[in-house]
Amino acid sequence: MGKVLAVVNQKGGVGKTTTAINLSAALALEGLKTLLIDCDPQANSTGGYGIPRDEQQLSTYDILVGEAGIADAIQPTEIETLKLVPSSKNLIGANVELIEQEGRAHKLRNAIEKIRAEYDFIILDCPPALDLLTLNALVAADRLVVPMQAEYFALEGVSELMQTLERVKSGLNADLDIEGVLLTMYDDRTNLAQQVTENLREYFKDKLLKTTIPRNIRLAEAPSYGKPVMLYDPKSRGAEAYRDLGDEILARNNIESPKAKERKSAA
Ligand code: ADP
Ligand code: MG
Repeated sequence: MGKVLAVVNQKGGVGKTTTAINLSAALALEGLKTLLIDCDPQANSTGGYGIPRDEQQLSTYDILVGEAGIADAIQPTEIETLKLVPSSKNLIGANVELIEQEGRAHKLRNAIEKIRAEYDFIILDCPPALDLLTLNALVAADRLVVPMQAEYFALEGVSELMQTLERVKSGLNADLDIEGVLLTMYDDRTNLAQQVTENLREYFKDKLLKTTIPRNIRLAEAPSYGKPVMLYDPKSRGAEAYRDLGDEILARNNIESPKAKERKSAA
């Protein structure tokens, strides 16, 4: 059964989409069957894989609000083991359109249930808000990946997210937990970054991931070529960091990837 990871932080610009794009690529390139579902009306994960943000094609909106089956919305990507459900601007309306509907927070979970067995990992890229779209992702997810920047007020920023996590755990999704907190755009040369990291480690303990993502221009450039950084510039520091993130998440879950098995038997 596929593990569902939601990439979530209600703050914009912290590296959610960059993480969703490149973590899904890292896992898929290790031979794991991966599905990226773009849950953000900005559709940056969709664009980042070179898929047009076209309101005519089936998208997350049609799955949440309409009658469309998720299987019909899944599109291929350049990576054979990676598929994507695109988003589009009209998804913003789902917040309002779903309000009156019964089971409004379970729409995404119910859709994913239908295809979950076909994937090893399902990654959800969330919008920068604790809205009904993010709530659908929290209800659908097994684990959260929380990208953060090492800023002075970092902890204050996540407290609202942690309260939401607790509320969801005590009601809609009791098994939800944090997979890991990921420091993005990280510069370990500054005292501030080191100090903030210490505070975050005290607070999150082993949930603070060992991998950190450096600021790397290749990560910012890759989406305009419609590629994850591993295909755009595989030798870049950004590519290396996101491969490390994939490896760390696999190790934490005791998963040996198909590629790791191949490497082992070749050695
Ligand atoms: P979010 O999805 O949380 O809003 P994004 O992933 O879109 O955040 O990142 C915000 C901006 O920062 C984007 O322009 C992205 O290309 C850039 N960015 C993200 N991570 C990095 C990084 N590690 N190095 C350099 N630029 C980054
Ligand atoms: Mg985003």
